[in-house]
Amino acid sequence: MTLENAIEETDVVHLARSLIRIDSSNYGPGKAEGEATAADFVRSNLEEVGLKCDVFEAVPGRSNLVARFPGKDPSLPALLLHGHLDVVPADPDEWSVDPFGAELRDGLIWGRGAVDMKGTDAMILASVKDMIRSGHQPARDVVLAFFADEESGCSLGSGWMVKEHPALFSGVGNAISEVGGFSVDIAGKRAYLLQTGEKGVLWVRLTAEGTPGHGSQIHSNNAVVKLAKAVGRIGDAQWPVQLGNTTQELMRRVKLLADLGQDTDARIIAAATGFGSRFIAPSLQNVANVTIFNGGYKENVVPGRATAMIDIRYLPGQRDSVLERIEELVGSEIRVDIESDLDALENDFDGDLVRAIADTLRHHDPEAELLPYLFPGGTDNKLLSQLGIRGFGFAPLRLPADLDFPSLFHGVDERIPVDSLVFGQRVLTDLLRNY
Ligand SMILES: [Zn+2]
Repeated sequence: MTLENAIEETDVVHLARSLIRIDSSNYGPGKAEGEATAADFVRSNLEEVGLKCDVFEAVPGRSNLVARFPGKDPSLPALLLHGHLDVVPADPDEWSVDPFGAELRDGLIWGRGAVDMKGTDAMILASVKDMIRSGHQPARDVVLAFFADEESGCSLGSGWMVKEHPALFSGVGNAISEVGGFSVDIAGKRAYLLQTGEKGVLWVRLTAEGTPGHGSQIHSNNAVVKLAKAVGRIGDAQWPVQLGNTTQELMRRVKLLADLGQDTDARIIAAATGFGSRFIAPSLQNVANVTIFNGGYKENVVPGRATAMIDIRYLPGQRDSVLERIEELVGSEIRVDIESDLDALENDFDGDLVRAIADTLRHHDPEAELLPYLFPGGTDNKLLSQLGIRGFGFAPLRLPADLDFPSLFHGVDERIPVDSLVFGQRVLTDLLRNY
């Protein structure tokens, strides 16, 4: 058997590559493909080891799969392991490989979803299959969920499941999913970022009304001009660094690791986390970006209306104050409508799951430092929190120090090292055994 073949035989690698080869691109509101095929693949893998699966569709083709692996002690809170089956689209012209080919090259698996998040889906599947095959029954129930539609607001995935089928998640205390658990290099030391919280998301639509008319006339009430001034003020606004529970603890630990002085500025501390700073820098402050601007339809017509979308990511507890500041910045003449509103999450960097994660990780990587971090984006954990579930991001990956991992999320040439995936599956399997 060649080395290539040996790698391909590894269950987690085989599962990740098979999932990547199923194109499950989510193109945005209501338009997606392949999620049902991906759910079928997951189902056949779980049923192969005797686990019964149920599939639910908010609309035909948008499949969500749930299974429950009963633990020894039904009185313990269950653990939810969840992943999403959709990916963001990929333009093959931009890629150096086929985005849905799952090619093995230079010790990495290349393809859309390798990082976000079919690699992690594969890790979850391989770990559970491993545990069942070895005849090990976990202490607590392990609930598995694979959702549709995470890449377009979750409304046909976790959002719909939480509303329509909450009983499936009964008894769940903690959840584990994506965008955490990967290693970063801090002053030559390896640290793993455990996602213990997520910033809140507000998508707001700005609307300016003006006086429409012929482009040859004198216009003092032009909707496009009013809106442009308003979004310009949002673009220029400065948001101060504000540390909360998670980021304070993170800063404290990074200062120790990087041997930085007590009074070091938080932005400098964030920079000391190397590639990790792509996620950490925006977690220290509120962020508001203008993402869409629409006004006008003809060269010689002043339109009566112009609209823009603002993507706001706010710190835990600051929803109302950030919204107030946005309203102040745009002024009273611009209407502000909320289109999407998902609250921030923040868990303590403590508790039995966090301790089990730290212990398991240290067993596999004795140098490992576990750090809490606040994810600046959003995941299915936000929707699941409506059921009182405490969501963590922990897809353990020991990464090469020179890999800019955060930039691979939704990136061109998305890829994941095979070694990291194999490491992650071992850690996750052990965590399931120990927790
Ligand atoms: Zn994702």
